[in-house]
Amino acid sequence: MKFVSTRGEAPSLSFADTVLTGLASDGGLYVPETLPKFTREEIASMAGLDYEQLAFRIIQPFVGGDLSDDELREIIGRSYKHFRHRAIAPLVQTDTNEWVLELFHGPTLAFKDFALQLLGQLFDHLLKKRGERVVVMGATSGDTGSAAIEGCRQCENIDIFILHPHNRVSEVQRRQMTTVQSGNVFNIALEGNFDDCQNMVKASFADQSFLPDGRRLVAVNSINWARIMAQIVYYFYAALRLGAPNQMVNFSVPTGNFGDIFAGYLARQMGLPIDQLIIATNANDILHRCISSNDHTPKPLVHSLSPSMDIMVSSNFERLLFDLYGRDGAAVAELLADRSVPMHLSESVLARAREVFSSCRIDDSRTIEVIREAFSSSEYLLDPHTAIGVEAARQVRRSDEQPMVCLSTAHPAKFPDAVAQALPKQEIPLPAHMQDLWQREERCKILPNELSQVHDYMATMLSAGS
Ligand SMILES: *Cc1c(COP(=O)(O)O)cnc(C)c1O
Repeated sequence: MKFVSTRGEAPSLSFADTVLTGLASDGGLYVPETLPKFTREEIASMAGLDYEQLAFRIIQPFVGGDLSDDELREIIGRSYKHFRHRAIAPLVQTDTNEWVLELFHGPTLAFKDFALQLLGQLFDHLLKKRGERVVVMGATSGDTGSAAIEGCRQCENIDIFILHPHNRVSEVQRRQMTTVQSGNVFNIALEGNFDDCQNMVKASFADQSFLPDGRRLVAVNSINWARIMAQIVYYFYAALRLGAPNQMVNFSVPTGNFGDIFAGYLARQMGLPIDQLIIATNANDILHRCISSNDHTPKPLVHSLSPSMDIMVSSNFERLLFDLYGRDGAAVAELLADRSVPMHLSESVLARAREVFSSCRIDDSRTIEVIREAFSSSEYLLDPHTAIGVEAARQVRRSDEQPMVCLSTAHPAKFPDAVAQALPKQEIPLPAHMQDLWQREERCKILPNELSQVHDYMATMLSAGS
């Protein structure tokens, strides 16, 4: 399969090259040239498959030519073996026709493990084949960094450097990154904010001359196609368990960068009978304003109780725009050319988006109430991100008869402060395999917000290792 850029100018690439490339050279994002489609009968035949078998069926059409079936099966097997629930993505019923899809049983307790465990395995396999060793560099405000580190810690052909803003990530999140004791994992605490970290990574990708000979940088952020692809699987998995393809199923998704919910959109395009996809946002509500009133005015970032959704510009939205504009890269490039004026979608495009997407904004005070209500009615503990998805579903769902699946993107113990605001007397224990998180030794380099110092440190570590 070939992959093309959403801006229409960059060369098309194979699956392997797409995975090992970040942004397209024209500034766009890679998407499949044509999307594989499953018939109703094919989807019916997937009922009863376990998670890994289903992942193989969904992912196989995308990798055509670059991985053999056996290689793909092995990669998928290695990606999901560290999950702590045998169902990988269990469904829990929370109301008459409402389910929570628990996506937090991976190594770092957030759904990002689904994509980053697979991405690490894909990197390692493709790089070994090519005899290449690369450097993964990324910035994180929390969840992505730890999931990327867990995904890459055992990869022989990768060194990984993750920058986080010094003293500005939660203690659980920091320890999940800094207590990983692998020779190829390097944590940098930058004396700056998250934007400074991101700018540092951008500048490093733009000029990679600081790296030792033969090395290059590879991205793990959510613009990487493989991350989206991995996330399509659990939409099929949940829907099949609730009666698809004979039953329409709907989803509510706590949304930040639009990667997770875009995977749901792709599942629908591939044939899964989904009627409604709900974009659930916190106070950083640009996507909600976009869908409800065509308002794309950026507003200052608000720090909320659901920090993994504190995002001003959702990069993966561009992939949806590409589809809505009839896969016309030039039209997308024009739409996004002048970032100084807010984008304006045509009424017909907006109408097409609204056929699939609804949206809802839930603020911090309501988030806390929802966590409290869910616990008092059923003793089920919601993390703040999941609470937003659950409440959004209740506010804007179109059908009470069709099942509604709320994606649970994180384990409540990952955000204990928010949960404690709702339930001050409730203990929120870490899962058994993380009980010793507070005793583990941390490894982290604190560096000033200066490009040359970060580059010197990286170059020194990379030369020492090779
Ligand atoms: C990353 C993240 C989100 C947002 O997902 P996107 O794909 O960026 O929309 C929501 N919840 C949690 C816990 C996350 O880590």
